[in-house]
Amino acid sequence: MKFKQAYSFDDVLLVPLKSDIESRQEVSLQTSIGNHSFRLPIISSPMDTVTELEMMLTMARLGGLGILHRYNGPGSQSNMITAARDILEQESSAAANNLAAAIGSTEEHTKRAELLYNCGARILCVDVAHGHHSLMERSIKSLKDKFGDKVTLIAGNIATPSAYHDLSSWGADAVRVGIGGGSICSTRIQTGHGVPTFQSVLDCASMDGAAIIADGGIKTPGDAVKALAAGADAVMLGSMLAGTDESPGDILSTTEDKKYKVYRGMASVEAQVAWRGQARSLEGISTTITYKGSVKDTLKKLEQNIKSGLSYSGARTIGELQAKAQFIQQTAAGQVESSTHILKK
Ligand code: IMP
Repeated sequence: MKFKQAYSFDDVLLVPLKSDIESRQEVSLQTSIGNHSFRLPIISSPMDTVTELEMMLTMARLGGLGILHRYNGPGSQSNMITAARDILEQESSAAANNLAAAIGSTEEHTKRAELLYNCGARILCVDVAHGHHSLMERSIKSLKDKFGDKVTLIAGNIATPSAYHDLSSWGADAVRVGIGGGSICSTRIQTGHGVPTFQSVLDCASMDGAAIIADGGIKTPGDAVKALAAGADAVMLGSMLAGTDESPGDILSTTEDKKYKVYRGMASVEAQVAWRGQARSLEGISTTITYKGSVKDTLKKLEQNIKSGLSYSGARTIGELQAKAQFIQQTAAGQVESSTHILKK
């Protein structure tokens, strides 16, 4: 049997290309998902240690998108959407239109969608571990029937071009691409299934279809640039935005030099017990992550680094980056050289 080779972010590099960009201000990271446009192609993951009210507000204010997780019951979820809507309306922010909430793929969640829509959510994310599924087909079709173009639908996660084709043709406006790559994910260990996120994005982007959100395993700004260059319209981040003031949860240690926050997979024992009272199939872990201060600083640095990334490819827009990008595969020695290897001594 001949196996297809699949590449991860660390397997590849972008070749620097001739550039005439003199300042990062010339570079725009503008992107769109459905009929919503964003200044930053960055989306915070619908996880209970990443996105609740504060993260949604900050992402909206800075031009990205925060998707409220679905693990807190319809009442609490819709209250948070209402609160975000009211605060952003008071600020006269155009980001009121970009409020996003996650739901599951069952009928109960399709009902929840109506409640969220009535509170102001205009982007719904059908959020399941294995999105290439008949339940997903039913869910997307019934949400499209109910809301038409009044709601932008994000659906996922999926890992293959055939799944990308199906979700796009069922009506998804954007698809979360990546299975098994998340920093807290144990899907590949527990089930043997998954595809490196970089490869999934590259494969899906070779077809026409919905917007692509690269999700899982993006651990550096460089990975985000590689995902965008491979064809993603935006990146979804968990660990890079967790451990901040705006992510839910307490700071665990108060000694000045050691502060942590919990970051956990939604299929970890801890998260499952919290949202459904028991743990069934375990595909994630719970851990602590170094406290980083405000997510505003993280996003500012990320924006600057992604813009630098575009300028190394001589690109002023994400579209130009995708048209120009030249990837090379690096060897194991290349991967060592690509890291700050003095630290390895
Ligand atoms: P990270 O940015 O590498 O930390 O990955 C975050 C992504 O991992 C999320 O956006 C989800 O797609 C995925 N994820 C979240 N919780 C779990 C889990 O418990 N198991 C597997 N994947 C998960």
